This record gives sequence, C-alpha cells and structure tokens, in this order.
Amino acid sequence: MGTISRLAGTEAPLWFAFRGDQLLILDNGGSVGVPRAASLEDLGLEATFQREVGNLDGSRCWAAELGSGVEEPEGMVFRDLRSLWGVDENFFLKAGRAKQIVEWNRTHRFCGRCGAETVPGPTEFAKECPRCGMIFYPRLSPAAIVLVRRGDEVLLARSPGFPPGMYSVLAGFVEPGESIEETISREIYEEVGVEVANVRYFGSQPWPFPNSLMLGFIADYASGELRIDPAEIEDAGWYPVGDLPTLPPRVSIARAMIDVFVAEHNRHPEVSKASEQDALSRLRMRRPSS
Ligand SMILES: [Zn+2]
Repeated sequence: MGTISRLAGTEAPLWFAFRGDQLLILDNGGSVGVPRAASLEDLGLEATFQREVGNLDGSRCWAAELGSGVEEPEGMVFRDLRSLWGVDENFFLKAGRAKQIVEWNRTHRFCGRCGAETVPGPTEFAKECPRCGMIFYPRLSPAAIVLVRRGDEVLLARSPGFPPGMYSVLAGFVEPGESIEETISREIYEEVGVEVANVRYFGSQPWPFPNSLMLGFIADYASGELRIDPAEIEDAGWYPVGDLPTLPPRVSIARAMIDVFVAEHNRHPEVSKASEQDALSRLRMRRPSS
C-alpha cells in the first residue's frame, strides 16, 4: 500500500456492489459515485462475496456481490455499468475491475475439471480446487482492435449490432495458440479480405463485458479488394479523413485511434497537434510514451 492509501486511512472505503450486472450508485443527480461505508452492513446490505480491489482517488475500494433480490437503500439506484461508460474514466475502470472480480467469483464456485467446490487460492485473485489442485484466476480475453490506413483513408466497418449509422475499426478475439500479429492478419483477412503490413502498437483499454482487454494497433493496407464476411460485417469501406461516418464514442480506444489518424492528416498543424494530444490524453495511463 502506498502513501495515498495511508493518508486516506481515515476515510471510509468506496463500495462497488453489484446485483447481477447492475452497480449500486448514489442517486444524487450529479457526478457518478458509489457509497462510502466502513462495511456493507452499515448500508443495510449483505454481501454474498466481497474483495478489496485497490484505490480510487486515494480511497480504498471494495467489490461486492449482493443477492439477486436485494433492494436499493434510500438515495441509491442500481444501474447497468454500460450506461456509466464515458461519465468518468477512472471510475469506470475501477467499476469494471470490481465487476470482473465479482463475475470471476460467481462463475468459479466449482472446479471445471472435477466438480469440487473451490476454496480461496494461494494469492488474492486465485481460487483453488481442494480435490485436484486446479487453480482458477480471473479470466481475461484479449482482443485486437486495428485501424487500417491507406494514404489518407481509413478502413471502417459496421457490425450488425452497432447503433444505426455507426462505423468503427475492425476487432477480433485472440484464439488459442495465436500470436497477436496472427490474430490481426487473420481477423482482417476473414472479415474484409484485405492484407496489412507495418503493424504497430497503439495502446490498450479494458472492456469488462464480460472480460475483454482491447489491444489497439495501427496497420497499413498492403493488398486485396474489400470482400465482406456477411456473418460478421454488415458494411465496410475506405473513408477519407475529410468524410467520416458516425464514429464510436470519444471514450473508446477505437475513437482515440481514429482521432489520432485524423490529426496526423489534418492540414492545420496547430489544430492537428491539439486534437492528437487530446486523443492521447484519454489513453494516458495505458499507452507507452512516444
Ligand atoms: Zn478439481
């Protein structure tokens, strides 16, 4: 524990308490927040699971799972975590971490190999099977998200589940045995029939629905004509920087990548620099300095 947590030792911890996928937040109409309390019992709630998950702005944070029938205390509401995306980045990251720890506990109560009930494991975020010794850590699913560029054009596509009119860069999950470079080549070729080159790392963003880690890359178009896989893609095209369709929200890594690309091609160097800095600052914690 660092200096910050010691300084904050007198303040009651923050509780990220979930009923199913819904987070208990303060219903104060203003900025988003979770309740502070020495224990959940102080809020009149009972946890079926709780675990400390780090600090937020100097306050200790706990993740907790509530029973499915629990009603919200006075002045609080349950909200789907997705609806809080973009409200406050650090808050969302901590809530996403709490959600994944709660979900890990809920889905690893029994050993997947022999069926015995699991017990706490050798480290904080480990569960162990007392019968066969299998250890279960929280599951993470890495996914590659790739901006493909061709001159001043960017490759954007629509999945059937996107909001109407919205286009984004391509993304796909890493499969067992694959390097991330292989995932990128395979996904882009499968989805739109294009080959890419000069793949370089951009930055990353956790996405807790349920447990993705989005790894962002920029790649150059190498060869091939657009050929859409209708099972995954509804439409795709090359869009010039000056004529882009509706894009994902500003808090997404997809949008940060597109904004940086646009900034690099902007004719006004001052504007370009400012918007690139803005896009990068949104990923300040998770992008290597360049
Ligand atoms: Zn077992």
